[in-house]
Amino acid sequence: MSGAVSAELELADVARLEDIVDRRALNEVCRSFFELFSISLRVFTREGVMLADAHEEREICRYVNSLGDGRRACSALVSEVKRTDPVDGPTVHACFTGAEYRIVPIVYQGQRLGRFVLGPYVPAERREVPRSLLVIDARIDPEQARNALSEMPRVRKETVDRIGEHLSRTLDLILFSGHRAFLTSQMHVASVRESFRELAEKNQHLQEAFGRLKELDRLKSNFLATVSHELRTPLTSIIGYSDMLATGIAGELNGEQQEFVETIRSKGDHLLALITSLLDLNKLEQGSMRLHREVMDAGALVTDLKKTMTPSAMKKSVGIDMKIEPGLPPLHVDPVRIRQVLFNITENALKFSPPGSAIQLIARHAEIAPGGSDDGFGAVLLAMPTRAVEIGIIDAGIGIPKEEQSKIFDAFYQVDGGSTREHGGTGLGLSIVKRIVEAHGGTVRVESEPGHGAAFWVALPESDEPAGG
Ligand code: ADP
Repeated sequence: MSGAVSAELELADVARLEDIVDRRALNEVCRSFFELFSISLRVFTREGVMLADAHEEREICRYVNSLGDGRRACSALVSEVKRTDPVDGPTVHACFTGAEYRIVPIVYQGQRLGRFVLGPYVPAERREVPRSLLVIDARIDPEQARNALSEMPRVRKETVDRIGEHLSRTLDLILFSGHRAFLTSQMHVASVRESFRELAEKNQHLQEAFGRLKELDRLKSNFLATVSHELRTPLTSIIGYSDMLATGIAGELNGEQQEFVETIRSKGDHLLALITSLLDLNKLEQGSMRLHREVMDAGALVTDLKKTMTPSAMKKSVGIDMKIEPGLPPLHVDPVRIRQVLFNITENALKFSPPGSAIQLIARHAEIAPGGSDDGFGAVLLAMPTRAVEIGIIDAGIGIPKEEQSKIFDAFYQVDGGSTREHGGTGLGLSIVKRIVEAHGGTVRVESEPGHGAAFWVALPESDEPAGG
């Protein structure tokens, strides 16, 4: 704790006796004083609330209280004693019985926090029963009053002074340790409050930043969608016209012209594919891609895939093997989108397959675990797994390092390394694959060891529509 802070707290926070004093400790101290000196002792706050009390009812008080006028006089005196606030040091309050109360202020760090009251006791020098006692009630019996008064403790003035001082010092110690504990807890509360305030502030900043990022993301998506859309129309013309030129509709081309036109055409195709991917991704992100589902046979999908890929595989001297488990259930999928998924993955497999190797296409029975497409709710614990068909595309290429395997499904992500860069691509294919598969309620995962190829598994839930329907 810095000196400045502690000084500030010392001055500011000693306000109430009841905040800094431990009541149990105070009561124990009062009781031991009472046992030691047989003088009643009470401690009050500044407002007159009693905090500790060690007393014994005296015979004379009992007697006076048994008489009507005596009782009234006694209670008036007691409330007067309670009300007395000794501003300029200890004061003595006399009772009509001849007894006295000594009222001592409790001062800590220059502030008056309360007072303690010693008494009643009879000053040792008093011998006679005072007249004020004998006239307090018409029914008073002087003899009985004298006897009762003789049981009241008799104390010399110096002794009361010393008891008062001693008690003041003891209270000072109790207040000191109570004050320290109070300050410590105040500091603790203040620092917890400060941490909470800082956290709330940071949280607010984060929420604002999150809101801005979401807005930026939305703007980016809209921008991409608009630009892509605007690019597509002129690009279709470029491809169309270069196609016409290449076929000689506008006149024969020489060899070099033919080559240039074909480059324009193939680059145009590439650009168009990129733009289509961007538009697809945008639709999938907005959840606005409509699926036109049909009941499909997984075996037919895989056979079709093999047929489509065979020419390009042959060009690279890569074989394609196929294994389809019998009795697979039908799927309920959008054939165009699922062909796009399988085609994308197989194109990647072919890209990374070395000549002479083979790609395996597999269709087999499987299950999708509850929460497989991760809806994030606890209900998955009660749900049953869904029957599914899993289509595997396995190559013998360069493979994918473990730490990259979850990232390759992010948009624009490509595994950093010369070997993948040299194969081109945009990094959009797998992110579209994942979103399309998940939109079908399916899952996609990869298994791979670098240097030992990669296996992509697409699981699609079984159709609950009757086959051929
Ligand atoms: P790209 O257009 O770059 O192929 P994808 O999203 O389809 O984008 O793939 C992302 C990255 O994942 C690729 O750039 C490549 O690094 C890696 N990858 C995908 N399939 C394979 C595979 N069969 N073998 C090795 N790496 C792969």
